[in-house]
Amino acid sequence: MSYPVPFNEPERLTELERLRSAEWGFSAALDRLCSLATRQLKVPIALVSLVGDKEQNFAGRQGVDMLKTSRDVSFCAHAIMTPQPFVVENATEDSRFCENVFVTGDPGIRAYAGVPLATRADLRIGAFCAIDVKPRRFTADELALLGELGGIATAIIEFEHMKLQLDDALEEAGEMQEDLREHALALESSNKELAEFAQTLSHDLKAPIRTIRTYLPDILENARTGELATALEDYRLVLKSATHMDQLVDTLREYCKVRYEKAPVTDLPMNVVVEDAVGILKPAIEERAAVISWGELPTVKGNGPQLILLMQNLIGNALKFSAEPPRISITAASRGADAVFCVKDNGIGIKADYLEQIFEPFQRLHAASRYAGAGLGLAICRKIVERHQGRIWCESAVGQGSMFHFTLPAAQ
Ligand code: ADP
Repeated sequence: MSYPVPFNEPERLTELERLRSAEWGFSAALDRLCSLATRQLKVPIALVSLVGDKEQNFAGRQGVDMLKTSRDVSFCAHAIMTPQPFVVENATEDSRFCENVFVTGDPGIRAYAGVPLATRADLRIGAFCAIDVKPRRFTADELALLGELGGIATAIIEFEHMKLQLDDALEEAGEMQEDLREHALALESSNKELAEFAQTLSHDLKAPIRTIRTYLPDILENARTGELATALEDYRLVLKSATHMDQLVDTLREYCKVRYEKAPVTDLPMNVVVEDAVGILKPAIEERAAVISWGELPTVKGNGPQLILLMQNLIGNALKFSAEPPRISITAASRGADAVFCVKDNGIGIKADYLEQIFEPFQRLHAASRYAGAGLGLAICRKIVERHQGRIWCESAVGQGSMFHFTLPAAQ
């Protein structure tokens, strides 16, 4: 090692690292400062050198093209040793520099004057220097000017560093603001959806309550007057309404669960999911003598209970809105990283105008008296698929049966 090392070298290098910008070329301002120094001190070369562990990097330059040199041939490595200006009047007569490659070779340094760049923490990270290619003296005024320019160079380096930090902070603040805006929008739309949901729900719950309210006094009156047959008929209506309310509350619970509960994801063979859903629907399948077929289905990344509920709702609807006997097939294909499934039935079909609407909560195309249901089944299906980053859609025509397609992420 042929250069002196300051006593506080580790702290000095940490300070340099703190101020390091993505590139060493800080700003055109440092180059301009060097240009000013060459004119005022009448020298061909001026440099702002940052002295690192093994190299010096030129953050500002005038008169040389190099961006860095090794530290052991650096004059500035000597200038950082003292707070005073470091001066060499004739390098060829100085044992420390007479064999230096920049003295014996290009650019042929003869005279050097450098002042340390001392940061606010009073650590010398480099030097501001003026270099001549012929031996010369530097006057006290010239060295004082060099000192001033060195002070300005340090201030520019600190300023550029602060500017970078400020830019980063501003960028971060901008991203946070954008995140907040997105959250606020999501919250607003979720609140709106919830309000609409609550309104429709209260409307749907009121219908059976109204029926019960209307018929209960009649039942009592008929029972009192001995018209038991009429009382029994009314009682059946009340029971039906209560059952409907019960179903509505159950479906609602399912909907809320899908929407708000955490759903851990594992690799799931869809054959097993379909078998489970078909098992749950066994009584309805047997009652309708339905034929349900599926082949080899892929394994997906998903939440077991949610995917069973999804298949249960789709197969359940296919059974409910089907011809006699219901024929339902479940197929799958691969599309990029996804698996695309299709549940096809031979049922009553859906008018093209309603193919989107059916996925909204409480949307029913038929009177509840004809086909029972809360109108939440497909809304649940859509929530489940969306929570799996998938998409669900329907292709159908009246009297032509329906095909419900949905995508799920395929397991690797
Ligand atoms: P519901 O509880 O009424 O079944 P869904 O949300 O499951 O509610 O379905 C919404 C509406 O979409 C149904 O009322 C029905 O009109 C229509 N629909 C759903 N599946 C089918 C299907 N496979 N064939 C024909 N119509 C369907």
